[in-house]
Amino acid sequence: MKQIAIISGKGGTGKTTLSASLSYLFQNPVMSDCDVDASNLHLLLSPVELKQNYEYYGGKKAEIDYEKCTNCGICKDKCRFEAIDFQQDKYVINEYACEGCKLCVLTCPEKAIKLVENLAGYYYESKSPKGVLVHGDLNPGEETSGGLVAEIRKKSFSVGENLKKDVIIIDGAPGIGCPATSSVAGVNYAIIVTEPTLSGFHDLQRAVETLKKMRVKFGVVINKFDLNESVSSSLEEWCFSENIDLLGKIPFDEMVNLATREAKPIILYEDSISSKYIKSIYQKISQILFNK
Ligand code: SF4
Ligand code: SF4
Repeated sequence: MKQIAIISGKGGTGKTTLSASLSYLFQNPVMSDCDVDASNLHLLLSPVELKQNYEYYGGKKAEIDYEKCTNCGICKDKCRFEAIDFQQDKYVINEYACEGCKLCVLTCPEKAIKLVENLAGYYYESKSPKGVLVHGDLNPGEETSGGLVAEIRKKSFSVGENLKKDVIIIDGAPGIGCPATSSVAGVNYAIIVTEPTLSGFHDLQRAVETLKKMRVKFGVVINKFDLNESVSSSLEEWCFSENIDLLGKIPFDEMVNLATREAKPIILYEDSISSKYIKSIYQKISQILFNK
């Protein structure tokens, strides 16, 4: 089973549009939405049935046992994150501000505080018209998205193995931070989707640097290349000079907006200009991964 991650230097470059279309072009995939801070692959793949949901615990938070607490206030004075307030005659932990540093636990004279596992979000196994989709959501204010991505990757892999799937299509987290690297760690191939702007060029270079350090094989797709042909040519030349596979360029296509409004992958619009280019990109990736 091969794993392909579709990533981008930043959000909004067309990564999910390409991920959803590749999910339809590959015959026997599992879909994995690892863009947990802005998960929207499910909007295009329209899951019809929730098969299972799972709790995701990330980090720990302080909890006060009011049977033991004497209201001395030492914990509030010690907390460097201002996560403890005095409200309605008692000290309370603000779970959004608590970093789980444990200082209050260690300094409470009554041993009234302990750290507890924090329910940071959920992930789901859903049935979509194209097969199983694994996706997740972090609770508001949570920052442990790299851990949730790792859980989604693990679940996608076990589902793929059980169902004897050929490929996992991962809609990765954008950028080069922890969720992004968690999306691509150990994949067989990554596709960086970029756009022809100077900031897009800069983000592409950072993403390339990261993938090289991680020793992940990758290629590049330039989306909406015709919106700035001059920057697009510079991107192409740079890829050529760096010996990077240019998998394809996709022109600007009004129908992508229509497809998004209608919550369908653009590949289902046979007469759209971008679906033609995406098919050619799919063929190149199939050639690279499966020699076909
Ligand atoms: S340090 Fe312990 S005893 Fe004092 S207010 Fe905080 S929890 Fe209560
Ligand atoms: S664990 Fe650390 S951050 Fe959380 S309340 Fe205690 S001292 Fe503050």
